[in-house]
Amino acid sequence: MIDLLNMTRAGLADYCLSQAHPAVHANQLFRHTYKRMSDSPWHGGFIPQRLAEAMKQSFEIKLPVISEQHKSAYDQSVKFLLSLTDGGKVESVLMPEKKRLTLCISSQVGCAQGCVFCHTGRMGLLRNLSAGEIVSQVYLANAWIAEHPGWLETVQLPAKSRVSNIVFMGMGEPLDNVDGVVSAIKILIDPFGFALGLAHISVSTAGHLDGINAIFEQLPSVRLALSVHSVDDVKRSKIMPINRRWPLITVLDRLREQQRLGAKGILLQYTMIRGVNDSEHDAHMLAEAIAGLDAKINLIPLNEVSASRLTCPDAVTIQSFRDVLHQKGIRVMVRYSKGQDIAAACGQLVVKAQ
Ligand code: SAH
Ligand code: SF4
Repeated sequence: MIDLLNMTRAGLADYCLSQAHPAVHANQLFRHTYKRMSDSPWHGGFIPQRLAEAMKQSFEIKLPVISEQHKSAYDQSVKFLLSLTDGGKVESVLMPEKKRLTLCISSQVGCAQGCVFCHTGRMGLLRNLSAGEIVSQVYLANAWIAEHPGWLETVQLPAKSRVSNIVFMGMGEPLDNVDGVVSAIKILIDPFGFALGLAHISVSTAGHLDGINAIFEQLPSVRLALSVHSVDDVKRSKIMPINRRWPLITVLDRLREQQRLGAKGILLQYTMIRGVNDSEHDAHMLAEAIAGLDAKINLIPLNEVSASRLTCPDAVTIQSFRDVLHQKGIRVMVRYSKGQDIAAACGQLVVKAQ
């Protein structure tokens, strides 16, 4: 059986044609799946009986289930623990922010990159998520929101609000799973699907150059967020092993090239770690390394994870670092992670292996 949620609308159109039916049926099937949230959209009576019968034989909707949910007492964010149909587990985090509802989603079960400060990295990679498992996270979050109108009231958002922004900043390195992520994004931005703007979706990468090339080929204006964390080659390789394969400098060059081709500004993330990357000298080096790149920087104070001895700098150090960048005219913000009390903050997403 094929998981219907894995199919882009173009793929579904091809299927309709292969069954000798017009491609246009894919539009209604998509609308019923994603807008009406039907779990057997072929039964809606709007496609020919023969096509509905064929689909019933070949397709199913494989939704994960929300096995746990935790609400943060401080910022109203909600962490979902999802059980996949094979028993695998991933997390997604719903974060209300002014007029937006941002969902932080996972792209893999675990992660192969092994960054030393990251809990998910310590799990290793169990497997990639399918496109269907990626879009399911949005589907389930929207279903949860619809069932909790009181929560929308608490966060002062209009009734009927749904997820408006997506960040691929949950478990996994999304560009290690480009096929799944690109198909998922196509479904998320499809006007018959979730109808989100591509500008409302950010894909965060530790600097996977092959993946960057592959995603730009398919979605040239996709918004990337790059996790920098150090511009010193030796130090970065120590905390982010991916730097040994694709040194930061080559990644920054590639991003500059894409901007010359018309790509928009990029977000740089810089997790601040005491004594590792938090000196004013580090800030000057950072400013130099990103010259010529249209970028803004989010400084993320390290969320200390028990498995490592790394700690978070004090507020004064973070402020001095910020000031150096600010004085150079760089757009920089200190971002405290949401959901810290429910272990939903950056780098805290970890699920025990089966
Ligand atoms: N794999 C991707 C996306 C997931 S991680 C990436 O690395 O970019 C999302 C962000 O959280 C990344 O910037 C990552 O470096 C950061 N992060 C990981 N562990 C963290 C921690 N313990 N404290 C603060 N940020 C962390
Ligand atoms: Fe993977 Fe990102 Fe964690 Fe590094 S920070 S181990 S790339 S999830």
